[in-house]
Parts: sequence; structure tokens; C-alpha cells
Amino acid sequence: MAQVTLRTVVKKYGALQVVHGIDLDIDDSEFVVLVGPSGCGKSTTLRMIAGLEPISGGEIVIGDRVVNDLPPRHRNISMVFQNYALYPHMTVRENLGFSLKIAKRAQGEIDRAVDEAAEILSLTEYLDRKPGALSGGQRQRVAMGRAIVRHPDVFLFDEPLSNLDAKLRTQMRTEIKKLHQKVKSTIVYVTHDQVEAMTLADRIVIMRDGHIEQIGTPLEVFEAPTNTFVATFIGSPP
Ligand code: ADP
Ligand code: MG
Repeated sequence: MAQVTLRTVVKKYGALQVVHGIDLDIDDSEFVVLVGPSGCGKSTTLRMIAGLEPISGGEIVIGDRVVNDLPPRHRNISMVFQNYALYPHMTVRENLGFSLKIAKRAQGEIDRAVDEAAEILSLTEYLDRKPGALSGGQRQRVAMGRAIVRHPDVFLFDEPLSNLDAKLRTQMRTEIKKLHQKVKSTIVYVTHDQVEAMTLADRIVIMRDGHIEQIGTPLEVFEAPTNTFVATFIGSPP
């Protein structure tokens, strides 16, 4: 578990600035959702927290460490993407344990971590199957399970439900909420879907063009949007 702090974080691609100095304080165990239109800088921000993109200015703190120069594997984060790639030739058990195996953990420890993740995500009865024999929702749960086994301080989700159909998406929202209640990790979750943001978030961060427009609880941004953009985006009554 850890706090995540962004201090005036900037991202430039060459001459193009796409994140314009954002400040954000995320509490220990908080579920924060970054939401905003396509291209506003959500994924870039998440990737900077993950260490997958270098920052062009400012500071990122995870727990008690400034992580600006730390590679992803030293940040104690786990990331779940929209296009999760499971290993098709491995069973669910092997998929779940793979990252721990690479980290040369003892087999007993791997088995315990895998069983615990499978239990949390209701995957126990599928552990011997291969991904090809799972439904879309089950595959997505395996992708989340791979993130859980490493006991990260912080989970980073980038549009993890975008490839699922509407019914499954609703179901998975509930799963993710349950997951958060069980593991109590800090979660930073990116989506362009306002409903998803409102359902999941402790606090919502509304972004536009590389800026933060408003930060608040779902109720606060709904009832007291700070400008027309937020009101329109969230669908607040006029
Ligand atoms: P979002 O996730 O909110 O849709 P992104 O963070 O992916 O937005 O992108 C923010 C902006 O940065 C967009 O204008 C995008 O075109 C630009 N961008 C993202 N990645 C790169 C890159 N590797 N090189 C240049 N521009 C990029
Ligand atoms: Mg994105």
C-alpha cells in the first residue's frame, strides 16, 4: 500500500507538450480514476507513474520514494492493460505464476500466491485450463490475477474493460470494486467512460488537453462541476 504523488509532472514528445504540469495526491488505498476524452493524456500519465515513459519535468513519489529514475520493476506497481496478452500455451496456474517464477521465487511461495489470487478472483476451478478455454471475462480476471500475485503497492489500470461487451463490463466493474475492497491497494484507473469512473472511484480526476480540470468525489464533481466542460462531460443537470 502506498501514496502516489505527482508534483508538476510534465510530458513532452519532442516539441509537443502533452501533459502540462499536473499535481495530484493519491492516498494510501484510495481508488482514483483518471477520466477524460481520448487524447487528453490519461495513458501517458499512467505510463509515467509506471515508469514506462520518462517524465520531462516534475516529480513522482510512490510511498516514501521519489521514483523519477527508477525502472518499472523497482516501483512495486502492477499494470493491467486493455490488450492483456495471456500466454496461450500455459495453463491459468502457469500464467498467474509466471512473473514470480521469473523472479526466481520458491515454488511453494508461487503456489500460495497463485491460490490466493485465484480465490480472490473466483478462478480456482479454472487453474488447469488454458486461456483458449476461458470466456472473455475469465481471461480478464486472469490478467488481473497476474497483477495481484506480485502484491504490488499500487495497481495501474488502463481501460481494462474496453474490449468487453456491455454486460460483461458491468459485471467486471463489480469484480474490480470487490478486488479493491479485498486487497486494499492503491488503484489508479484510466477510462474515457464517465459511468465507469463514477461507479468505481473514491475520487475522480477529470482531464482535458493535458490538464486537470477538477478533482473530487463522484458526488462532488456531479453536483458542483467547476466549469461547463466538466458538467457536460459528467452529464450534470444544468
Ligand atoms: P489518452 O490515453 O487520454 O487517450 P494519451 O495519453 O494516449 O491520451 O495521449 C495524449 C497525447 O499524447 C495525444 O495527443 C497523443 O497523440 C500524444 N502521444 C501519445 N504517445 C505519443 C508518442 N509516443 N509520441 C508522440 N505523441 C504521443
Ligand atoms: Mg489511453
